[in-house]
Amino acid sequence: MSWLPSQEEPLVRTVAVSRIYRRGVDEIRALDRVSLAIPPGRFVAFMGPSGSGKSTLMNLLAGLDRPSEGEVWVAGQRLDTLDEEELAAWRARHVGLIFQFFNLIPVLNARDNVALPLLLTHLDKRERLRRAEIALRIVGLEDRASHYPRTLSGGEQQRVAIARALVTDPDLIVADEPTGDLDARNAEAILALLRRLRADFGKTIIMVTHDPRALRFVDMAFHLDKGTLLEGEEATRAHEAILVAAGGGMTGGSLHELPESRVRELDAE
Ligand code: ADP
Ligand code: MG
Repeated sequence: MSWLPSQEEPLVRTVAVSRIYRRGVDEIRALDRVSLAIPPGRFVAFMGPSGSGKSTLMNLLAGLDRPSEGEVWVAGQRLDTLDEEELAAWRARHVGLIFQFFNLIPVLNARDNVALPLLLTHLDKRERLRRAEIALRIVGLEDRASHYPRTLSGGEQQRVAIARALVTDPDLIVADEPTGDLDARNAEAILALLRRLRADFGKTIIMVTHDPRALRFVDMAFHLDKGTLLEGEEATRAHEAILVAAGGGMTGGSLHELPESRVRELDAE
């Protein structure tokens, strides 16, 4: 057994990252000097009230947007210094995206929707479709490969979208309110599926969510308020308020640790 603290490199790291939106003379500081670190292979929730900056932060980590100030690092790559084109190329290879309203292409069947991100690779069509079928099998929809989105339920459409996010084997999967448009049963199924991707494939998954039930499935939760990351007592209070909102039964396999305590614990492992 080693007595040295482990030096696990974070997969995601931000240093005092801010995002200021300008509308005419108005400035909106959507994110204010947020610093965080996320080790690889974790299922992470970003929580907080509407307008607190969750999507803004997630978009910076996914390479969908660039910060006004500060540094963003993902999988060893510094993102805030890349231009639009470099960022798009990086994103295509390293990030899988999942949205609230699934964003499937209506005129493509499930298999072709899932294969879509592979168009940006050198793979031939046969290989692209083979990988799409593997991804559909992982989400349990192999028998729906030829179905069009309108013939699938909301839960099934979100599983197709998850297969599409998975098909390029990304370092990071980001999901913005993935259960926001689903009923309770389908929402739980999607949370369980995301958790399984982290358990079976070691994927790092960052999910923006309002859903208190999410805390039963994730390893870490970050709480935002008015563009800042809550820490210490404030984070604990926010966390406990959500646990109360979720009702009892909060035991089980998940850790739902607070960010700093979890990072400290991991450092000591
Ligand atoms: P959340 O996802 O937590 O609901 P957002 O990150 O979407 O919050 O937004 C944070 C703040 O930034 C809000 O005040 C929002 O109105 C503002 N905002 C978000 N996107 C833009 C934009 N493109 N232009 C101007 N303001 C924006
Ligand atoms: Mg949002």
